[in-house]
Amino acid sequence: MARASKTDAREPTLFEVGPAPAPRAALYAEVALNRPVVVQFTYSVPDELSSRVVPGVRVAVPFGAEREVGVVTAIARECTLERVRPIAALLDAEPLVSADLLALTRWIGERYACSWGEALHAVLPAALKRERESAKVIVASPVPGIGAQELAQLEEREPKQHRMLRTLIDIGGRIELRELCRKLNLSDSAARTLHRRGWIRLEKVEADADELETSRAPRPRPASLHPAQQAALTALLEPLEAGHHGAFLLQGVTGSGKTEVYLALIERALALGRGAIVLVPEIALTPQTVGWFRARFENVAVLHSRMTDAQRLRMWQRVRRGEARVVVGARSALFAPMDRIGVIVVDEEHEPSFKQGSTPRYHARDVAIERARESGAVCVLGSATPSLESWSAAQVGALTRLSMPERISGHGFPVIEVVDIRSEPSGPQGHKLFSRRLLLLLREALERGEQAILFQNRRGFAPVLWCPGCKETLRCKRCDVALAWHQRIGRMVCHSCCEEHRSPQACPVCTRPGMRFVGAGSERIELEIQKVAPKARVRRMDSDTMRRREDYEDTLSAFGRGEIDMLVGTQMIAKGLDFPRVTVVGIISADGALHLPDFRAAERTFQLISQVAGRAGRGELPGRIVVQTMSPQHPSIVRAAAHDHEGFAKHESALRAELGYPPHGRLLRLLYEDPSEKLVIDASDAAGEFLREKLVDSEAVVLGPAPAPIAMVRARHRRHLLLKFPSAAAQVEQVLAAVRKLGDSGAKLRATIDVDPVSLF
Ligand code: ADP
Ligand code: ZN
Repeated sequence: MARASKTDAREPTLFEVGPAPAPRAALYAEVALNRPVVVQFTYSVPDELSSRVVPGVRVAVPFGAEREVGVVTAIARECTLERVRPIAALLDAEPLVSADLLALTRWIGERYACSWGEALHAVLPAALKRERESAKVIVASPVPGIGAQELAQLEEREPKQHRMLRTLIDIGGRIELRELCRKLNLSDSAARTLHRRGWIRLEKVEADADELETSRAPRPRPASLHPAQQAALTALLEPLEAGHHGAFLLQGVTGSGKTEVYLALIERALALGRGAIVLVPEIALTPQTVGWFRARFENVAVLHSRMTDAQRLRMWQRVRRGEARVVVGARSALFAPMDRIGVIVVDEEHEPSFKQGSTPRYHARDVAIERARESGAVCVLGSATPSLESWSAAQVGALTRLSMPERISGHGFPVIEVVDIRSEPSGPQGHKLFSRRLLLLLREALERGEQAILFQNRRGFAPVLWCPGCKETLRCKRCDVALAWHQRIGRMVCHSCCEEHRSPQACPVCTRPGMRFVGAGSERIELEIQKVAPKARVRRMDSDTMRRREDYEDTLSAFGRGEIDMLVGTQMIAKGLDFPRVTVVGIISADGALHLPDFRAAERTFQLISQVAGRAGRGELPGRIVVQTMSPQHPSIVRAAAHDHEGFAKHESALRAELGYPPHGRLLRLLYEDPSEKLVIDASDAAGEFLREKLVDSEAVVLGPAPAPIAMVRARHRRHLLLKFPSAAAQVEQVLAAVRKLGDSGAKLRATIDVDPVSLF
């Protein structure tokens, strides 16, 4: 039963039921709650609600001493349970979750070994997961005049407040508190304290309209499609016209005109009265991309993770009312409440960000195919460098492959030159950041008034601080990672937990002075290239400089207007950018991803080089790419330089087949984490034994338990198990059943279950 104070705090719900015990109900509702339990919970339906409680409505129900919001999944006339509690309140007059989304979330629960309720939780906008909706958000800003002095006071003792105040002063304007906290990996208590001290402002404001809502980048409609585009479109239109499901892999090199194909396909779908969902990686969700769709269609809804709850709810409702028939968004846009879907596009389908990193750990690519199948829609997975999973699905015919091997511009591919950085002469400080070839090309491009992009997939000045005395590197005390040196803020930063430390005067291990900065991050690249090319207008784009969405967008539009000559950045600049005057792209080190302990390391490297290279030579001007590496013979580098995806995929697929890794079988990862190392060891060992026994007659292989590659994060020890099993349905079923039983075994530690994991860290 809800406490009185709680009830008072709520705004009136649609049909509140009084506190008196409900009369014996003859009707029961199964309710899915956001709980990691695979069963639904049963509640009785009070008589006065009996006609209105139907599958898909939200209800508030008592759960223990709490009150929770859940979704009704089924109605029953009978109930075998002894005691059931009544539904406390009905929150919707009509079902909010449609039958197809109910079916889809049930599928997600089964496929990803989570509960139906957890899957439903991913589908609903946050505002609808609470009983009360709020259109207000809290924004933070520094109080004018607050600066160095206050920072100095916080410097020693209050690192969290220091980090927050410094960031706010850096931003110099307002930022939504929730977003700031998420970025800095802090709770809002630091903000509250700073507010009490009178150093920052916290204001409750009405949520603004999302900036992306108004972006409209003109995109001239081509006079006609090129033959390869036309052939792809014809193939895609066939099932659409017939009202059938179809699943396609649109493999088209960067600049081959994939976006035009999507636009033409969606145009036809709209004419047929069907809707469309377009998924793009979060990072590619720029005003430019969104604008292309907005310029072509009326009423495009945009859904992305940086929207406030109120903005997201508004969009969601527009789609639900049928006012927006095209949705463009990141991963979660897949769950837009749209009916009569005709087309689902997953652009850049190989992107790891399509996998959700928290429960439900779904892969948007797989869910997109499932939703399209349920809706009788056409699903298009688009990429220049398809994932091995999709590539092999196309090999066996599960996806129909459509190829667009040439660029629209007709200039062919940009030339990719691989430079062995080991054979370059050392610079004055002994490091070789830029090869002579790259410097020459940069100089020539800048002289001609063209633009360049330098890519380095690491933030900060130097990723490692190293003591030449004892050969130790400085590590975070709470995480199993090296601390990176950030020059501008003068601090060492843990990229895992975001904690900061001041640089030690001497090695903390052997007390000798003279710690060295090893390697280079984007901050160092920016500083060093500025030394080499002092006249160039250089701007850095990484999550340290691009604090707010506006920063990112302002920088890109300045680049588009030619006010910046060179962008230096991390993955933020690897995708989606289409600037015709960019003629030179430098990949400072292609080796970073290559040596990661992950079976997908080679694939990631191949994709990264291809994607970054795709930023050059997109217009009339030819492009040149310099890839700097210490492994110039590595197959993924050699093949990326040769634009040979097919060769790479064949080679890589053969290697994976030998090891039974995806796409030749499936994986499931169980991750145990806890501050107590003993608990983690015991629980993971017990799980290993349990699973080996349960799966003894299956073809599944249980690997581990072993320490996770990052063995500690935020002072929590981490161990994992990996299950490898064939994709055959019966085998998958057996593995999932065993893993689910593990959850019921009453272990003190619950594992994170990750089906088809993308990250193994
Ligand atoms: P992709 O999505 O494969 O990278 P885009 O669809 O963005 O490629 O097309 C690349 C460039 O070619 C864009 O500038 C686009 O306007 C142009 N383009 C695409 N299709 C045509 C066409 N049929 N005729 C002329 N230009 C086109
Ligand atoms: Zn840390």
